[in-house]
Amino acid sequence: MKLVFASNNQHKLQEVRQILPAHITIMSLKDIGFCEEIDEIGDTLEENSALKAQTIWQWIKDKKMILEVDGVFADDTGLEIDALGGKPGVRTARWAGEDCNDAANRIKVLEQLRDKDNREAQFRTVVTLITKENTLQVEGIVRGYINEREEGEGGFGYDPVFVPEEYDKTFASLPAEVKNSISHRARALDALKERLNG
Ligand code: IMP
Repeated sequence: MKLVFASNNQHKLQEVRQILPAHITIMSLKDIGFCEEIDEIGDTLEENSALKAQTIWQWIKDKKMILEVDGVFADDTGLEIDALGGKPGVRTARWAGEDCNDAANRIKVLEQLRDKDNREAQFRTVVTLITKENTLQVEGIVRGYINEREEGEGGFGYDPVFVPEEYDKTFASLPAEVKNSISHRARALDALKERLNG
């Protein structure tokens, strides 16, 4: 089975390839020659995930590549912090401003939680899969808390500040295999596998 993953984020690609079984070949946007930006203009993770998958599926159809791939899937992820009423949520990537980077986003979150007792949070990922036969949407959630400081060198994005429940280390401090067995992305892709098999 050959699926296009609607992303060029090398970290996400690596994770997805580790999580999904080896018989599923994962192609990136670069692999299929898609070089445009997809504006994430939706108000929810569900909308943005669907928008990314639909944009790429339409592009593949227009390029008449449809016979070469079995489908396309996209993910959209939000960090939902209890004390911030579920924010940054759909604005997670741009939390510190339109052109901000991951480091600025993390600093903003740490600053916002500085005086808060409740540091509970969750990562939520929504995955949309489009194939010739159907369209599926699934989600994966991992609960945890925001650490008081950045810790760890692994992962990406908010990984240095997020500690998953039942662990006492940030995602960035845990081995990749651990993150990829319990993460929001792993849980969403497990749900996808179940739907595909069932
Ligand atoms: P998107 O799903 O690529 O739009 O990502 C939204 C935001 O969440 C970006 O700031 C990413 O860096 C961050 N993000 C997505 N997945 C993860 C993850 O697995 N760990 C930490 N941060 C993530």
